[in-house]
Amino acid sequence: MTSTLRIYNTLSKQKEDFVPLNPDHVTIYVCGPTVYNYAHVGNARPVVVFDLLVRLLRHDYASVTYARNITDIDDKIIEASQDTGVPISEITEKFTRIYETDMAELNARLPDIRPHATDYIAQMISMTTSLVNKGHAYEKDGHVLFSVPSMENYGELSGRKLDDMIAGARVEVADYKKNAADFILWKPSTGDQPGWDSPWGRGRPGWHLECSCMIEDNFGKTIDIHGGGLDLIFPHHENEIAQSRCVHDGAPLANYWMHNGYLTVEGEKMSKSLGNFVTVHELLEEFKGKGEAIRLCLLSAHYRQPVDFSRDGILQAQKQLDRWYRLTEGVDAEGVKAHDSILEALRDDLNSPQAVAALNSIAKQAAHDLLAKKQLKASANLFGLLEADDWFATTDHDGDIEKLISERAEAKKNKNFTRADEIRNILSAQGIALLDGPDGTTWERK
Ligand SMILES: [Zn+2]
Repeated sequence: MTSTLRIYNTLSKQKEDFVPLNPDHVTIYVCGPTVYNYAHVGNARPVVVFDLLVRLLRHDYASVTYARNITDIDDKIIEASQDTGVPISEITEKFTRIYETDMAELNARLPDIRPHATDYIAQMISMTTSLVNKGHAYEKDGHVLFSVPSMENYGELSGRKLDDMIAGARVEVADYKKNAADFILWKPSTGDQPGWDSPWGRGRPGWHLECSCMIEDNFGKTIDIHGGGLDLIFPHHENEIAQSRCVHDGAPLANYWMHNGYLTVEGEKMSKSLGNFVTVHELLEEFKGKGEAIRLCLLSAHYRQPVDFSRDGILQAQKQLDRWYRLTEGVDAEGVKAHDSILEALRDDLNSPQAVAALNSIAKQAAHDLLAKKQLKASANLFGLLEADDWFATTDHDGDIEKLISERAEAKKNKNFTRADEIRNILSAQGIALLDGPDGTTWERK
């Protein structure tokens, strides 16, 4: 190895050399989705970031086990079921399938282990019992709460102080809580809510518990890397640490904590009210077969920095990929190694923008050098790019083209010329030219 992997650890707030507990087997766990609707593009960022990390780990180490959970019991899922009348299991199965299919389109490989929360109820009851027995949790009215003051160094990941948390939460403390910062491990379920029998009556787990149990069950007390989005540091990851450390007599839950930054859309925070809420599913519909461009777009910024996402950005990424695909057409990269410059960049805390710059400089040489073409392909493959067999295939679905054309006509009617231009660009990138005439718009393949 020419260099050692270095990782910024949220716990120590510095870049550290990565030293796995067992160099023959690296373990990584990333918090996954709550499956009750379509994932938005912000949800795709950790998926793509940690997929890239796992690809690098698999390159550098003999064996890697990657786990990502599926939260299939949650109040939001129960609400979705009540609102639609669709049974919970139908909702969770449908959206798990959609999530995994959509993420595969971004060339994010399936994790080795995909545990479902509802398969870990026994382990969750057992961990809760242990925490009660060790004096770190208590029961009140069918609820079991983790007693935050019972843990001496609670708050080590987020840097929050217990006193501040209590002061900040003085308003409205549920009467079953001894302390405002205490959090739920188990809660009662009423008649129509899903529930399981437990020593504290029929109920269901709190959200934080499943990750601690799945890690213990699949890997043991301590894993190498735990990842997720920045928004999970507090309270989710802090509470995972509290549960696991208190049940395991202080053993760390993970040695390296990695968090990806936020995603904005056209410079603004994504929200339903701003109308810029965009799901991966609809982007894949729009950019048929070009999930790789979305991946490249998501990796264009360093994972710890905010990334700004736009359709124009996808189109730029698509053009870049067009060039690389042309350069490597018919090139067999079998047995060729990824270029050192890519490995150096990625081993430096997953510096993906630097890796993209390195790919571009290999691409420059590739114009007149077969070895460089092979290196471009091998290096891009490590990055999860240039994996399509039919990149230049234009869309076969005339119906989809027609749909976009009528959406464009509608946009023009509403004077939304930005969207109208965007649709023209999207179709143009797919090799479709639009011809506006007195009787409407027709199209032809360029
Ligand atoms: Zn988690």
